[in-house]
Amino acid sequence: MSNTTSSTIHEIAELVNDTLIQMRKRIEAHGAFPSVSQAKVSTLLQSDYTFELPIPLQTVVTDVQEMMDSGIVHPTHPRYCGLFEPNVSQAAIIGDLFTALYNPQLSVQSHAPAAHAIEQHTLKWLISQLGLEPEKYAAHFTSGGMEANLTAVLAALNHRFPHWRDTGAIGCAEQPVFYASMNAHHSFEKAAAIAGIGHKSLHKITTNEKFEIDIDALREQIKIDRAQGQVPFMIIATFGATGSGSIDPIKSLLTLCEEQSLWLHVDAAWGGTAAFAPEIKPFMIGIEKVDSITWDAHKWLPIPMGAGMFFCAHAEALEAAFNVLTPYIPISKETYSNPLSTTVQWSRRFIGLKVFMCLAALGSTGIKDLVSHQISIGRYLRQKLVALGWQVINATPLPIVCFTKNGLNISSLLTQLEQKKIGWISRLFLSDGREVLRGCITNYKTEKKDIDQIIEFLGEYENELLSM
Ligand SMILES: *Cc1c(COP(=O)(O)O)cnc(C)c1O
Repeated sequence: MSNTTSSTIHEIAELVNDTLIQMRKRIEAHGAFPSVSQAKVSTLLQSDYTFELPIPLQTVVTDVQEMMDSGIVHPTHPRYCGLFEPNVSQAAIIGDLFTALYNPQLSVQSHAPAAHAIEQHTLKWLISQLGLEPEKYAAHFTSGGMEANLTAVLAALNHRFPHWRDTGAIGCAEQPVFYASMNAHHSFEKAAAIAGIGHKSLHKITTNEKFEIDIDALREQIKIDRAQGQVPFMIIATFGATGSGSIDPIKSLLTLCEEQSLWLHVDAAWGGTAAFAPEIKPFMIGIEKVDSITWDAHKWLPIPMGAGMFFCAHAEALEAAFNVLTPYIPISKETYSNPLSTTVQWSRRFIGLKVFMCLAALGSTGIKDLVSHQISIGRYLRQKLVALGWQVINATPLPIVCFTKNGLNISSLLTQLEQKKIGWISRLFLSDGREVLRGCITNYKTEKKDIDQIIEFLGEYENELLSM
């Protein structure tokens, strides 16, 4: 029995190894779009996977590999220039594998001291890269930016309303309100709903021509809200908006928050990684004084989902928001600093290991090279498009390019992009109703030749239209 098992594991390891080595080539040949429908895969599963009799693991591995090859959008494809899903490094993959292999429980520190040391060491280094003093911040990994942003809203509510923990929104005589630009991520609507203050508590502020929050409009809105008896408690600054890559002015928002006694949260889910780009660092000035920060390691660094991060200058607000006592954990000083008492999650996966291993294997020079490579490829895409007469409508230094041309049929263009297996780019609906194309350099393997191929496709598409 043990022999069969070990030989099986050996064979499986070889299969997985093979997948690691061969997969990138297969994906490039297959194209970035899925080629099967969910219905087709479901039918196959209904016949082959009834879970009645065990299936040899090797067969399962091969089947899963086939389903994945043909049945997902591939962020690891070199011409996947889409949403914030990165290509992943081997070190990070091995990190995730080891997390599954050892399966440590990180809800309390005493259960996994080594894992906690690795996570805190990693978080402290990353926060120091933002220019912050690590000792001043409580830091933890989250499932992603959604959880981190929710944590920010709950911490800010507990900070502003000392009764929040016991009575929640019902204990407020007036409506708590918070602010973000029209360009901010929609996780804040969800956070508002989960926090019990409702979507209407989030006041969306107009933006300027660079898609940055309009400070005067924000100041005016706060004045109106206060006059109506509402209670502002927080402002969100987006550093690298999901659609346009815009960067809200942290310094001006900081001044406003200090003046108005408001919590300033920076949502740098994707853009945080620009801390490794010297030319972008100046946009971060002021971040060392904000109350909390969201930064996803899984958006730009080559790390698989989910690896969000939350940094907070008010440890006591986190404890107020999340601490509960349980009969099976003895009360000590540690009880209150356990992730169980300071975060949304209960059972806690060792999220930080893949981040730690990825950073260790790349080193700071490797990370800087990777980030500046992607920024330069983004710049290359922007320059090519401008040179060819496309309207580039955003102006961020980050590697996102939003572009269009008069009379362009975006749906038909994207269908051709799929059919010709060129790559994957996204579309974006602007607040004025316009629709544009959006290319983002999320893959550290994307090269100039990949951009050339996309540009060539765009040219051919236009020519075909003209000749019709
Ligand atoms: C992606 C994103 C989020 C949400 O993060 P998840 O990791 O997807 O949960 C929040 N804010 C911004 C700016 C994002 O780009």
